[in-house]
Amino acid sequence: MNGATTTGGLRAHNRVRLLRAVHDCGATRTRSQLTRDLGLARGTASVLVAGLAEDGLLHEEPAPEHARGRPTQVPGPHARGPLALAVDIREDAWELAACELGGRATVLGVRPHDGTPEGVLGPLGETIAAHARRLGSRVIGTGVALAGPVRHGGLVDIAHLGWRSVDVPRLLGLTPAPIVGNDTAFAALAEARRGRLQGVRVGLHLHVDFDLGGVLIVDGRPLAGASGTGAEFGHMPLTGDERPCPCGATGCWSMDVGANALLRHVGLAHGGGRGREQAELVLTTSQEAVTANATALGRGIAALVNAHDPEVVILSGHGAELYERAGETLLAACEPGLMTIRRDHPPRIEASALGWRGSLLGAMESVFDAFLTPEGLGRWRENHLDQGGDTPEEQNVTHSTLKGDKSP
Ligand SMILES: [Zn+2]
Repeated sequence: MNGATTTGGLRAHNRVRLLRAVHDCGATRTRSQLTRDLGLARGTASVLVAGLAEDGLLHEEPAPEHARGRPTQVPGPHARGPLALAVDIREDAWELAACELGGRATVLGVRPHDGTPEGVLGPLGETIAAHARRLGSRVIGTGVALAGPVRHGGLVDIAHLGWRSVDVPRLLGLTPAPIVGNDTAFAALAEARRGRLQGVRVGLHLHVDFDLGGVLIVDGRPLAGASGTGAEFGHMPLTGDERPCPCGATGCWSMDVGANALLRHVGLAHGGGRGREQAELVLTTSQEAVTANATALGRGIAALVNAHDPEVVILSGHGAELYERAGETLLAACEPGLMTIRRDHPPRIEASALGWRGSLLGAMESVFDAFLTPEGLGRWRENHLDQGGDTPEEQNVTHSTLKGDKSP
């Protein structure tokens, strides 16, 4: 039986819809706008909001500006409401944040790591567990983004770091188990929810850090592949390189785009997740290295556009920086690679709206996706009645190798 056909089931269904709408709009829409968007009766919406506020899931604030008369209320996160913990594990460091309904992220820590599975995941697991204890029953789950293919169940390969089938959930040792995903797929998911892929039916997202990851988004979801490892456009021989890639294939596109490629171009040591700062320096000082990277990026984009016919191509991480610094070079390299039928209406190429924060926010979205269900809200109701948790405070981050200051 469909739960939504009973009165209780319908209420549970509408609670989820309302919270989902508040979350997706970034807690910016008024109650009357949401009521209209969701096709609810005003009375029904009032009852729903009151119930959700009582359960510690929502809190209403007056709209910052409103016409004369009764102030308009904007539903947003409750001060003791649900928090998703989200981590972006890059090849050289990780960033951990606590995220509220609506998507606001509070950074809890940024830390460099040694690149080994135990060295990364052991201390990170302990840090997450300590925050989870402090925040108590407010924590609804943990999402973890990683810079490599992630098979269903959380087995991860990061070729540059020598990771083979690393059991990330086991090494993190968290209960309940975290949701583990690929950084590019998460960046694309976040872009589809609150960035430039909103409302796009078929889009291509390319995320460039030490190397390049790419994924196709269809109807707001990254294509996961049969085993979960679909986001690997970087490992296609799109630019004619012949060298072996650490992934095991030869001539991968990602050998020519990203921090490693920038470092290689100027003869600096690269690989193993080292050299972020030097690569950023190369990006700002070596026009030749930037041109080579942008050219390779443009050529590969043309091949993928021919194959997939996307409406838009989104670039994040260093991809956005390459586009900003050498956009014309990139487009000039892309155009000759396009089929004639693609040239009349080539897809838009745009920088991500979320900057370097996309992977972290996508990890958050995966946690809220699991929570914003009748079952997830039912569990919250059972658990939160006992005691609330602490409030996340911005931690004293003394060093930051990550760029992630842009909040959505
Ligand atoms: Zn490869």
